[in-house]
Amino acid sequence: MTEKLSTEEIAEKTKIFDENFKDIKERVAAAAERSGRSPQDIILLAATKTVPVEVVNHAIEKGLFYIGENRVQEFLSKEAALLPVHRHLIGHLQTNKVRDIVGRVEMIESVDSLKLAREISKQSEKLGITTDILIEVNIGSEENKSGVAPEILEETVEEIAKLPFVKIRGLMAIPPICSENAQIRKYFKKMQQIFVDMRGKNIDNSSMEYLSMGMSHDFEIAIEEGANIVRVGTLLFGKRNYT
Ligand SMILES: *Cc1c(COP(=O)(O)O)cnc(C)c1O
Repeated sequence: MTEKLSTEEIAEKTKIFDENFKDIKERVAAAAERSGRSPQDIILLAATKTVPVEVVNHAIEKGLFYIGENRVQEFLSKEAALLPVHRHLIGHLQTNKVRDIVGRVEMIESVDSLKLAREISKQSEKLGITTDILIEVNIGSEENKSGVAPEILEETVEEIAKLPFVKIRGLMAIPPICSENAQIRKYFKKMQQIFVDMRGKNIDNSSMEYLSMGMSHDFEIAIEEGANIVRVGTLLFGKRNYT
C-alpha cells in the first residue's frame, strides 16, 4: 500500500521528482532521437506504486501525463484525490479484482492470460465499454514470472483478439534482471522483433501500436530498441522502502 509518509518525507520525494524530471525527459528525448524517432513518440509513464497521492499530483502539476499503478487496491485508495492524468494498470491483475478496475483506467498493460482477458471483456461489456490492453510477454521465459510465453504468444493474441470488449493495443514486458547492459539489450531486441512480427500478422481487432518496456535502470536501452512506453519509478521518486 501507499506508505504513510510524514510531511518531511513527502517534501523529500517531491524534491527528488523536481531534481530528476527534467533530466529524465531529456534522456528520453535523446534516446528517441538515437532510435530515429521524435521525443513525442515516447510515453514517459511514472510507476507510482507506494508514492503518496500528494507527490503524484505534484508531478502531474509539473507536467507528468501518464501514471501506472501496480495494485488495484492502492490505485483505488488514491483515485478520488488524483488530478486528471492518463492512468494505466501495470501490475499483475487477479481475475477476481477485474471488476474493481475496469472502467477506471485507460489501459491495462499486464494482461497475461486468456482467462484474465475474458474477465476484462466480460466486465467491460457490463459497463458498455471496450478496454484497451497490452499483452504481457514473459520474454525471459522465467518460471514464477507472469506474462505469456513467447512460444504461445501468437495463438494467445489471436484468441484474445476475438473477445468483443477488449482491444489489444500492443505488448509489454519486464525482462529478467541482468547485470550487463548487453544482456538486457538482447531481451529488448527480442521483444521488438516479436512486436514487429505480431504487427505483420495483422490480427483482426488488434493493433500493435505500443511496446511498453524499460524501467529506471534501462529505459534508454529500451527506447533505443523500440519501446514507446517506458515505466519509470525509482528515478522519478526515489527509492521505495518496500514494493
Ligand atoms: C515498479 C515498476 C516499474 C518501475 O520500476 P523502477 O525500477 O522503480 O523504475 C515498472 N514497471 C512495473 C511493472 C513496475 O512494477
